[in-house]
Amino acid sequence: MIAEIIAAGSEMLTPYRQDTNSLYLTAQLNTLGVEVAFKTIVGDNRAHLTQAARIAIDRADIVLFSGGLGPTEDDLTREAVADALGRTLRRDNELIASLHKRFAARRMTMPPNNLRQTEIIDGATILENANGSAPGQYIDTTVPGPDGTPHRKIVILLPGPPKELKPLFDDLCMPLLARMLPPRHLTRRVLRMALIPESQVDARTSPIYKTYPDVETTILAGNAEIQLHFACAKPTLEEAQARVDELTGKIEQEMGDAVFSAHGESLEEIVLLHLGMRHLSLAVAESCTGGLFAERLTSVPNSSSTFSGGAVVYTEELKTTFAGVPPELFKTHGAVSPEVARALAEGIRANAHTSLGIGITGLAGPAGGTPGPDELKPVGLVYIALADGVDTQVKEFYIPGDRDRVRLWATQNALELIRQSLL
Ligand code: ATP
Ligand code: MG
Repeated sequence: MIAEIIAAGSEMLTPYRQDTNSLYLTAQLNTLGVEVAFKTIVGDNRAHLTQAARIAIDRADIVLFSGGLGPTEDDLTREAVADALGRTLRRDNELIASLHKRFAARRMTMPPNNLRQTEIIDGATILENANGSAPGQYIDTTVPGPDGTPHRKIVILLPGPPKELKPLFDDLCMPLLARMLPPRHLTRRVLRMALIPESQVDARTSPIYKTYPDVETTILAGNAEIQLHFACAKPTLEEAQARVDELTGKIEQEMGDAVFSAHGESLEEIVLLHLGMRHLSLAVAESCTGGLFAERLTSVPNSSSTFSGGAVVYTEELKTTFAGVPPELFKTHGAVSPEVARALAEGIRANAHTSLGIGITGLAGPAGGTPGPDELKPVGLVYIALADGVDTQVKEFYIPGDRDRVRLWATQNALELIRQSLL
C-alpha cells in the first residue's frame, strides 16, 4: 500500500509558506503501515490540479488532498478531483441547510460563494468538519489498472487549515483507513551518538541493519550528533517491538559507549540523568560558548536539582572576577589555553560549591585571537576542562566551521566529556 499526498495552494510554491500538513499526514499514515511514496505541491490551477490528481490516482493506492476546499474561486480541489475521476459534482441539501444555520448562528447572511463548499463528488462520503465550514470527502473506488484488472483506490479531500485537517483526519479518516488495511502496528526507536563521523557509524552498523530488511533504518546527521532511526510495522505491537529491540541491541553492542541515548533522549538530558543518579552538582564558566552550555542544560525541565548555573566570562577581567583565574595566566599562556580552561573549571567549582566544574575557552572566529599569546592560535581551537575536586581533565579540540558550529560543537564536547567521565 502506498500513498501520495497532494498539497493544493499557490502560496506553498513561494519562498514564504511551507506544506506542513503532509508531514502530519505522513506520520499518521506510517502508524497504519502505509508508506508515503510521493508528495506533490500544486498551485491553485484547475488544469494542474486535475493533472496531478490523475497521476496520483494512477500510481498510489491512497491519495490525500490538502487544501482548496474553501469558498473562493481559487479553491479548486473538488472540481479537479471530480474531473480526474470522471465524476460529477452535486450540491448536498443537508450541507446547504447546515451552512445556512452556521451563518445564522453568527447573525450573518451566507454569501452565495459559500455554496461551493456544499459541492460533493458523486459517490463520496461527507466528512463533517467540526472546526470549519468546508467538509472533507472520502471516496472508495476501483479503477482499471494498465492490465485492465480493477484496483482499489482511496481518495480523500481534506481542508487546508491544520487546525481543521488534523482532527478531521484523526477522527474520521484514520478509523476508515484502519478498517480497510491489514492490522499493522508500528514501533519506532531512536539511537543517538555524538562526536563520531557519520561514515564510521554507517560502516559499522550497515552490516547489521541490512540483515533486518523488515526494519526501516535511517541515519540522520546534524547538530553535532548522529541519529539512527528505526521503524518496523508488524501485525502485533509485540512483534514489531521485538524486532526493533533485537536490532538496536546489536547496534548498541557494536557502537558501545558512543551511543549516548537508546530511547531518543538528548545529550543534555542524559548528562543530567547521570549526574542526578550520582547526586552530583555541576557549574560552568564559559567563554566562547557565551551561555550556550547553560542554555542547553537549563532547557531540560527540573535541571536545577543538578545544574547549579555558572558564569559567562567573556573578558579576561570577568574570568578572574567570577572564576578566580589568576591574571598572569593570560599573559603567559593566553585566554585560549589549557591553563585557563583548567583555572575556569576549578575556579567556578570552588565559587559555586558544586561537585563538578566545567571550563570552556576557545576561538569561535571568524577573527583570530587578540594580540598576545592567543594571536597566532587557529580559529576553532577550544579547550575544555572538567574539575571534580580531585582531578582536572583538560582537553584540546580543533573544531572546523563557522562561529555557530564551533560554539555548538564546543558545548557538545563539554557534555560528552562529562558523560564519558561518569561512565
Ligand atoms: P479555507 O476554507 O480556509 O480556504 P481551504 O481548505 O481552501 O480552507 P486553503 O485555502 O488551501 O484551504 O488553505 C487555508 C490555510 O490553511 C492557508 O492559508 C494556510 O495557512 C493553511 N494551509 C493550507 N495548506 C497547508 C499545508 N499543506 N500545510 C500547512 N498549512 C496549510
Ligand atoms: Mg482556501
